Amino acid sequence: MTRVWKVWADTAGDSSLAMRLDDDADDWRGGRERRSDESVGVLVVHMTGRTIVAKALREGLDPLEKCLSYYTTKRTSSHYLIGYDGELWQMTDDRIRVGHVGVETPERALYLNGGWAQGVADHEGRKISKATVASWRKAWPHYKSPQHLFHTKSVNNVSVGIEMPPCYVNGGYIAPPLRKGLWHTAAQHLGVALLACDLADRWGWGPGWLFDPKGGPRSPALPGHEDVDLYGRSQPSGGWDPGALRAQPRWDWPMVHSLIGMRLAAGGISAFLARAASAVGVAATRLF
Ligand SMILES: [Zn+2]
Repeated sequence: MTRVWKVWADTAGDSSLAMRLDDDADDWRGGRERRSDESVGVLVVHMTGRTIVAKALREGLDPLEKCLSYYTTKRTSSHYLIGYDGELWQMTDDRIRVGHVGVETPERALYLNGGWAQGVADHEGRKISKATVASWRKAWPHYKSPQHLFHTKSVNNVSVGIEMPPCYVNGGYIAPPLRKGLWHTAAQHLGVALLACDLADRWGWGPGWLFDPKGGPRSPALPGHEDVDLYGRSQPSGGWDPGALRAQPRWDWPMVHSLIGMRLAAGGISAFLARAASAVGVAATRLF
């Protein structure tokens, strides 16, 4: 069923996949209620800064708890946080618009006028390397710039965000990555895939949301922070938030897309298995 965001009560702002804090009194995090034209259609994926995780290790604290207390005492925050084992926490109601992706006016102008791709420095002297621009263009071949991915001035208006602490910290792994070289675990990849499906259900994204309507390899419903703001989220070697726009990616988007595809197909497959099982006269579970 397709649901359209009209009023607060129309849409569930909580994910049933996520845990909530007991004391949620301050879950506005300095944000505001979304307007009627700000239906959530995008999940922005973030890598949590390694300094927070490194600090937790120094203090002998659980990295996830450290991240949770960090984000829930800040005035800006993403909506979700996912740990190495896939523990998903909801910190802010989806229906609250918070600033998890900040693109300032000078950078926005450089995206819109093409300067970003020509090595023009922003007002802080930051430049985007040729290699990073090439990685971005490979991911988004049919879009002019990071600011052309969405039909809104700020992606915060129409998105929720998820933070993921990296499992690669201080030059080594503190939890096993999905695959060597990546900075996130299998459970974090799966968790992002499942949360995206849950958001699509609750916010009525409709069919085809997993695909780029223009035919590129990535879905505009599922960008990383770096896809939206390369000035703020890249270094000469490439993007770092979450680190897919680089020669050696730290986050595996094709895997996330595959997992979502499997999740979306699961309903059809169980119906198929039930039909096949009844055709051969056995219980569906015995087909495995
Ligand atoms: Zn970010």
